[in-house]
Amino acid sequence: MKTTGPLLLLIEDDPQFRLLLSTTLESQEYQALAVATGREGLIAARNRKPSLLILDLGLPDIDGQDVIRRLRLWSELPIIVLSARNQESDITLALDNGADDYLTKPFSTAELLSRIKALLRRIAKLPGGAQEFFQVGELKIELTKRRVFVNEQEIHLTPIEFRLLCVLVRNAGFVVTHRQLLEKVWGASYIEHSHYLRIYMGQLRHKIEADPARPRYLLTEAGVGYRLSEEDIQ
Ligand code: CA
Repeated sequence: MKTTGPLLLLIEDDPQFRLLLSTTLESQEYQALAVATGREGLIAARNRKPSLLILDLGLPDIDGQDVIRRLRLWSELPIIVLSARNQESDITLALDNGADDYLTKPFSTAELLSRIKALLRRIAKLPGGAQEFFQVGELKIELTKRRVFVNEQEIHLTPIEFRLLCVLVRNAGFVVTHRQLLEKVWGASYIEHSHYLRIYMGQLRHKIEADPARPRYLLTEAGVGYRLSEEDIQ
């Protein structure tokens, strides 16, 4: 059956898993292009112009991290990495290299499909210019006016706190690594100063969350970074 949905490139060396994933994608009206090596994947990314890449990090020829680095030299292609290793350092490195999101094996197909949808949605939204408004649950942020409200009450943030929140808003629903946050909020020379991030994230949660110890909006991705929830989980 020929489908006409977005073309998704899949780089995965495990034949069974590759077949399972491409069948799943095709059942959802995506076109799936599945290859087994990093080399084939890089060629396909260039020649076939897919809308999104699903990349297994453990590949036989080129390391998945290198695939991301090489792609990012010329392409903004959205990338979801699959990590079998459940190693935070692999995931963090992949995100810092330019991957957009990750899943740790084993994961459910529902999870994969929702990540794909979220990423394609985000890409579709991008050319619309600067976002002015963000809302999740009781949290409302007016980006251009630099105003933040919780339960209709205005919250006063310091410039750094606001900048930190803005980076998370621009990536809402997606993880942003410690390094990316430090670089975007404080600057490239601060990427080792993770204590700044801990302190300011604590302050931000204190101002925004009803229970800072059990955050509803500013979520921790253990060992990797933070994610601003896009949906109200309560
Ligand atoms: Ca593999």
